[in-house]
This record gives sequence, C-alpha cells and structure tokens, in this order.
Amino acid sequence: MPFFIEVILPLALPKPFTYSVTQAEYAFLKPGMRVAVPFGRNKIYTGLVIALHENPPQLYEAREIHQILDDDPLVTAIQLSHWQWVANYYMCSIGEVYRSAMPSGFLLESETIITQHKDFNSETGDLTDDEYLVYEALQKQSALKVQEVAAILNKKTILPVINRLITKNAVMLQEEMSEKYKPKSIRYIRLPEEFMREEQLSELIEVLSRAQKQREAVMQYFQLQASEKKPVTAKKLNDAGINSTIIKSLVDKGIFEEYYIDEDRVKFEGNDDAGFGLSPKQKEAFDEIKTSFEQKDVTLLHGITSSGKTEIYIKLIEEYINSGQQVLYLLPEIALTTQLVVRLTAYFGNQVAVFHSKYSNNERVEVWNQVLSASEKAKVVIGARSALFLPYQHLGLIIIDEEHEPTFKQQDPAPRYHARDAAIVLANAHKAKVLLGSATPAIETYYNASGGKYGYVELKERYGNVMPPEILLIDLKDKYKRKQMTGHFSDMMIEAITETLANGKQVILFQNRRGYSPWVECLTCGHVPQCPQCDVSLTYYKYKNQLRCHYCGHHIAKPTHCHQCQSPDLDTKGFGTEQIELELKTLFPDKHSWRMDQDTTRGKHGYEKIIDSFKNREIDILVGTQMLAKGLHFDNVALVGILNADNMLYQPDFRAFERAYQMMVQVAGRAGRKDQRGKVLIQTYNPLHNIIRQVTDNDYEGMYKEQLYERHNFKYPPFFRLVRVTLRHKDYEKVKDAAIWLFNVLSQQLGVTVLGPEEPGINRIRNEYIRTIMIKIPQGAALGGTKKAIERILASFDAVPQYRAVRVTLNADPY
Ligand code: ADP
Ligand code: ZN
Ligand code: ZN
Repeated sequence: MPFFIEVILPLALPKPFTYSVTQAEYAFLKPGMRVAVPFGRNKIYTGLVIALHENPPQLYEAREIHQILDDDPLVTAIQLSHWQWVANYYMCSIGEVYRSAMPSGFLLESETIITQHKDFNSETGDLTDDEYLVYEALQKQSALKVQEVAAILNKKTILPVINRLITKNAVMLQEEMSEKYKPKSIRYIRLPEEFMREEQLSELIEVLSRAQKQREAVMQYFQLQASEKKPVTAKKLNDAGINSTIIKSLVDKGIFEEYYIDEDRVKFEGNDDAGFGLSPKQKEAFDEIKTSFEQKDVTLLHGITSSGKTEIYIKLIEEYINSGQQVLYLLPEIALTTQLVVRLTAYFGNQVAVFHSKYSNNERVEVWNQVLSASEKAKVVIGARSALFLPYQHLGLIIIDEEHEPTFKQQDPAPRYHARDAAIVLANAHKAKVLLGSATPAIETYYNASGGKYGYVELKERYGNVMPPEILLIDLKDKYKRKQMTGHFSDMMIEAITETLANGKQVILFQNRRGYSPWVECLTCGHVPQCPQCDVSLTYYKYKNQLRCHYCGHHIAKPTHCHQCQSPDLDTKGFGTEQIELELKTLFPDKHSWRMDQDTTRGKHGYEKIIDSFKNREIDILVGTQMLAKGLHFDNVALVGILNADNMLYQPDFRAFERAYQMMVQVAGRAGRKDQRGKVLIQTYNPLHNIIRQVTDNDYEGMYKEQLYERHNFKYPPFFRLVRVTLRHKDYEKVKDAAIWLFNVLSQQLGVTVLGPEEPGINRIRNEYIRTIMIKIPQGAALGGTKKAIERILASFDAVPQYRAVRVTLNADPY
C-alpha cells in the first residue's frame, strides 16, 4: 500500500503537491511538519505537510521526499486554516502565505546562501563531523549555496545539518548579514571617580567659576544625583535646563563622562513609570471594554490622542496573561516598537517578545519557537503585521493600535492582506477578543461599530484632563495677497514658532512631500524633466543637487539648462521637506532644525536616532512627512504646524478625504501632551473645505457621515468590496489590448460592476505600462463565489498565448 503526503511549497503554485513516503515516515509525520522535497529538475525546497493519505496523484508520478525536518509540528492546525483563509480571501496561493509567514531560517532551499557567523568560536562551538566540514569549507570560501553543501558532505540529506549550524550560531543566511537588532541605548552622564572626592570637587567648582553655565551644570548634576539616588541621564539634565551644548563642552573637557546603557537593561532596575493606576475615565473605559467583550468579539476603543489608550491596553493585557493566555499587540510601524517595548517590559518584564522583519532570522526563529511552546518569554508578542502568522497556542487577545493606519495592508508581494481584518479572523479561530484602538477610526471600522457588529467604547478626555490642542487656520490666498509670507511661512506661523521656542518648547512642522521641490520647470518653454522609465516628474533634491524619481530611484545631476530648449531659466515648483528645512535655517539661524522623512531615516536606526535627539531636545524644530503622524509621544511639543493642507485633499483616491482627516488630526495630536494645551496652525488655500472644518472642529462624526454618504453613492467600501486587477507589460499596445480583453470577459461573466480598464494617474513605472480594472462586489453578493470566478477568468486569460507575458496581480480590498 503506497503512502502519500500533501505538501505546500513556498512558491506561487495553485495547488499543494503530492509526495510519496514510506510507511514509517507516514506513521511519524503529522500536518505542520516540514519536509525537504525535490522540485523541478534539481531543486530542493522546504515544504510543509498539510495532509496524509493513500491516494496517488492522477496527473503525475509522486516523487519521494528527501527527508523529514521536524520531530513535532512547527505549524498548528489553526495556522494552516488561517493561511488558507488568507489565500482565498486575498486571492493568492497558500504557498505565498507560507513563504511570507515563516522566518526564512525555516525555509532553506537549494538556492539559499549561507555564510559564516562572525561571532562563532569553533573551539567552544561543539560541532559534529558533518557540521565541522561545512564550517571548514566556509573558512576557505565566504559563502555557500545549500546545494554546494550537498556536494561537500556527499549526501542528499543536508538541511538538518544546516539547521543545526544555524541553531548553534555557526552560520547564518546571507540576507540577514547586516540585520541585527540592537536595543536602543540611553545616554548617561557622570563625573569621573576622581572628582567625587571632596577637595577635587571644590577645586573643580573653583576652576569653573569663570564658566558660569558649566559650573551650574555640574551643580545641577550633583543635585539630581542626591535627590534621585540613581544614575543621571542626559535627558534629566536637559529637563533641568542644562542644554546639550554645555554638556558636550564639559564632556570635551573631560569633566563629564558620557556612557550608554541599553534600554532593555535599564528598565529592570525598577522603573517608576510601571506602577501607576488608571485615571477614573480610563478605568471607566476599561470596564466598558470588558463588558463589551461579554457580548462582542471585536471592540473599538475610540480614544482621542493622548487619552492614554496604551495604559488601558496594558491593564487588559495583564488580565489575559494572568489567566494563562497569549496576547498579540499589533503596531502599524516597526519604528514605534522601541517606545512600546520599553513601556510594556517595564510592566511585564521579560514576558514580552518582539517580532518583525528587522529582526534577524535567528531572533525570529527564536520567537516562533517560544510562541509555539507557549513559553513564559512570549506571553505578549509585539509586532508589525507579520506577527499575525506566529504559531499561537492560547491566544486570548489581539490589540490593534492605530487600526486606521494604511500600513496594516501589505501591498507587495502577495499575500496582499490587511492585518487588521486577518487578525479578526484569526481571533475568531482562537475564540479570542480583538481590541481596535484609534483616535481616528477607519470608516469601515466605525461603520461596523455603529451597526453593532463591533462593540464601541469612547474616551473623550486627554489624560490629566489636558485640553485638546487649539487649531487655527491660516488662509494662504489672503496671506500671499497681503504679502505676509516669507518663503512658505506665514507671519502667524513664524510668530507662533518664535514664541514657542522662546518658551523652551519644541515645534513639529508637517509637509507631506519629500525633497526640495516635486518638479522643475523651464521658464522659457515649460518643459518639466521626467523619469525616462516612469510616468512622473523628477523631484529636485538640493543637497545632492539631483533630480530623482520616487518610483524607481533613477537620478541625474540637476541640469543647468533646459534639455528641450537650452534655456538656463529653470524654476522649482511646489515644495517639500528639504526646502522647509532650508527656509528654517534662514528664519531661525540659531535654532536646530531637522528633517524626518524617508530620506533621513534610511539607515537601520535612522528613525530612532532622530526621535531620540528630538526627545533629548537636541532638535528644536522637526520637519517631517506623515511619518510624524504615527503615534509618537513627545512631551515638550507645544506647536504643530501644517504647512500646506491642500495637497492631501486632492489625491485621486476614494479614501483621500478620510486619510487627510486622519493625518491632520494625528499630527495635531502631537501638540501639547501631558501638562499643557498645545496649538496647531494649518496653512491652506481652502479654509472652508469640509475636511479642514471637520479637523478644526474635531468633528469625527461629521467627517464620517459625509464620507459614508459619498461611499454609498459611489459604490465604495463598506457598501461594496473592491478587487483591483492590475496589468503590467513593457509594450503599451499589448497591455492595452490585454486589459480590454480581460475587462470584457469580467464584465460579461461576473454579474457585478466592473470598471475600467483605466490608465492610472501614473501609467508607467520602471518601463512597464499599467492598466487597472476595478471590480465592485455589493454587500450581499456571493463574495467567495465572485472571487473564484475572477480566478477562473484569469486562468483562461493566462491561456491566451499573446497575453502570456502580461503580468496580472489581484488586490482584494485595495488600499
Ligand atoms: P494615546 O491615547 O495617544 O495612545 P498614551 O497612552 O500614549 O496616549 O498616553 C499619553 C500620555 O499620558 C503618555 O505620556 C502616558 O504616559 C500618559 N498617561 C496616560 N495614562 C496615564 C496614567 N494612568 N498614569 C500616568 N500617565 C499616564
Ligand atoms: Zn525649455
Ligand atoms: Zn522612475
């Protein structure tokens, strides 16, 4: 009697494959275990067993597996059915979900490249003979393909050897060489031993008597040390009024010493933030959430910015882990994890694990194993969207913070899933609860809450009862007419910044464009330099004296003459963060301004470094793009300025208004936290625009009603589900014909609204022309059936020979 297993491969294949196994293997294997299998001519992949049976495949001869890689399942039954749901709903193959769900350390294949691990010591490393041979080969040759290891060991079954070498930290996979997570360091200041003795100290004070400020700094240091009886951070000194320049000059003189301690070590020294209780309003919301969970599996916590949602999450998490359950805390942005990890570990110690793509493979493999074994070390998992795919055992609660954030939706590659929506499905499988938190809920979420599908809890007060920021509008048309503008700053904006800085407070300025100016124009003939590969104008970067494409990275030196007519009169149009930063240097020459956007945060910890220096008050004015709107907390910001609200409003997207509202309210929320009411200034040409009015009136409800009405009229979510079909090809005519063919078949066969084929606003990227088709599936229509029909039609499209080279992607619930 032959024995077979169904195996999924980490590839975009429509179906699992059948392999044959021996009776002994059949008895040993369980779904969720990995097997190394041959595929194609001579490739090996790490496959995942999903079923065992005795039916030979009809269309091909089943091949034998190379070997079994696990003793126990690595993937749970719930995961497998959740992945299948993701594949069906988001219209991709389960192999693609598998590939994106597993840390690549679990997915060795013949092409995987391994390298030596720098820190490995072969003397103490304790390797077996096979392992040593691989290790030795890596001494001579810096990298090896898994396939080559087979030759070195002269056998087929090599994945276990490599797996063990990875576990022993002897080798690593190439892609992670530069990726190693480091906890953030905190900067401390101390006096060297020698000054701590009485006579030296008085001598020091004496010496400094002519440098008043420095002397004051030293005295202040002593006071802090005496009163707090613990190491003094640079920030504490800053807070006490000693600025960074003075600290630096004392360090240069050798009077102060600076040293760093990793943040996650600091917090175990007994953090005094850890033990607070909830305010009465927070307590009320907390109780309401619990009551709501008795009836509803999903509850929306609609709490204004700075209402203290995180504190409520913490108390809730505590109850779930005390009852032995696991908690998943999803964040929209990796860069936010540091702040949160600090807060959660202060409370829960090392029961908190972090999982995201910036972590090395080893670290991700470790967290995977901890979650799978329900270890104490991973009671709470914090992560960006991929943490959804971990092997939870007793998941009790999922928190989705800033649930409205578009980054929860994965765009590319497949699976193009929305982590919030997929989390709700996962929670359902675990009978777990979901708490969605936001100050500006997504329209869909609020709709579900108003209709009673989700529970709803509101928190309308800032923590400490601080007033929400005062929001003022500045009419740009009027300001330009009256000549009250300096560069892109109105007189009111400049005054407010001046005043804020004079009070020792910091400023955040928001401009949702990078670079110096989004395009350059010839004053003589009107020519605008375009990217040769994409249908966009090139953005001007002044520092680099370059024109760059934001879609493909193409760049050229800034031309001195028009390429079209040779005229030297080139003008810059529009403005981005770089231009604002330069204007600030002229307007406030003795203040420190800095920029936070994709260009300055590129390095691994670029983002955190900027946030740190801003927190430490080394930066007075921070200019940035929407990165600034993402739930960061700064205590000392009293003013937020939005330099141009208009370009957010006019985006060709049905969510543009909702987004603009969310973005403005979120940035505004950075102003005035903790103790003082903040101020927000919005410069706009459209002070009467409904969205702007709703922002200034803090009128979420008004925004929601209006947008919902529009969504209803124009057939958008939550009333219709969208599936976007995108076609790409280098040949303009071919993609056009293909799109018409596909559109015709879809509209004839689906029985729902099909729109297009459309040339999108940017119709060519990296030399590929683009066409899109939008399918609108009404509520009540068979969603699953329609999606299946779409996939069938695509299969017949693929069979048309002249369209075979056209790339088609599907995006369900596109964002
Ligand atoms: P948001 O609702 O915007 O997520 P946070 O949870 O970050 O707000 O809280 C805003 C600020 O108020 C933080 O600095 C936080 O430490 C402080 N805070 C909130 N609740 C409490 C509390 N119960 N005790 C002490 N500080 C609190
Ligand atoms: Zn010209
Ligand atoms: Zn380009």
